[in-house]
Amino acid sequence: MLKCSNCVKKDTLQLNQTSDRAVMSDGSFANDFGATQSLCRSCGCIFITYQPSNRLEKYFSEEYDVSDEIQNCQVVVSGNRQGKHSLIHNSLLDSCAGLPSHGRFLEIACGNGTLSEKFAEAHPNWECLAIDPSNQSARNRYEKVHFIHDFFDPALFQGESFDVIVAHGILNRTAPMEMLRGIASIANQNALISIEIVTLENSIFAPYIWDHCYTFLEEVFVGYLNSCGMTVDHRVDCGPTIQFICRFDKEMAIGNNAGFPETVDSSLSLYQDHIAKWELIKNNFLLALARNEGKKIALFGAGLYNAVLINILKEPKFDFVIDEVRAGRFFEGIEIISLDDAVRSEEAMVVFLCSRPSNLDYINEKLENKGFLVESLL
Ligand SMILES: [Zn+2]
Repeated sequence: MLKCSNCVKKDTLQLNQTSDRAVMSDGSFANDFGATQSLCRSCGCIFITYQPSNRLEKYFSEEYDVSDEIQNCQVVVSGNRQGKHSLIHNSLLDSCAGLPSHGRFLEIACGNGTLSEKFAEAHPNWECLAIDPSNQSARNRYEKVHFIHDFFDPALFQGESFDVIVAHGILNRTAPMEMLRGIASIANQNALISIEIVTLENSIFAPYIWDHCYTFLEEVFVGYLNSCGMTVDHRVDCGPTIQFICRFDKEMAIGNNAGFPETVDSSLSLYQDHIAKWELIKNNFLLALARNEGKKIALFGAGLYNAVLINILKEPKFDFVIDEVRAGRFFEGIEIISLDDAVRSEEAMVVFLCSRPSNLDYINEKLENKGFLVESLL
């Protein structure tokens, strides 16, 4: 039994394991990747341990793609297609519209710094700090934001405190309770805190991706927030992720005792539902393959859905991947072609579609308008 790296308790249940080829949350593959996924019966968190323990850091420092095209994926929310980042940025900036003219802002895991720059632009008298360990962020330059090239550690900000703290896309990657306590320790009373995460409800991929070290039901995560004195003011559905705009009240914090053993059954059953859905998708793939015997097969999208599908199939039988952003090779040298190239191609192909349900109609319509025969796998 592995010790939970979120709450340090030992009552855990092993869920899944990988030892060779693992899928990452951006749809890329890592080889020779050893990791184990477990559920903690005490804090309700699904956590991953790595073998060797620095395997994930090695992946991020040597193999990871931080380009904005890949990270800022297009999402469809309420029928509107938009960049994920602009949606999250706008909801934060809107929530900050009524702030006083002076204050202190901190963004944790700021990436290329765009959000911090937008905030500083809108609030010219605020002192703005942003921290990120990535090599790319070391190149951030903007006169109104003080960029720090490092991992977040509250000790770096001793004696300082902030009125707005942003931590987007980081709390699935670092022990969430410890980080939330760290944020609480440098937050001013009534501070606005914006957090963005992937929840178990929202991630059918959870059993099969290996760089989200921590996954949890929304209810469990909101419990973590509350235990640190953060109350959710506003919840924003960002497609693949959820953003919580919170208010901080020191008096509400209950210390280190957040436990949610009553949620373990619901976490486990949702996790098993996700696995069952993938079995269905896999069967649909094999049936569609049989229906289209002898034809060229293309998968639509060099992203996460198809990466997981390929990993589950073990022996994928298709000829192309069509993608509008990525180019090059997808899996074991299979060529990625653009939609325009696919249209121009002499070869008739059937397009297999496996993507986020909210995007299916939109993509299906687009492909059919271009004359493709489409097989939806969901
Ligand atoms: Zn735990």
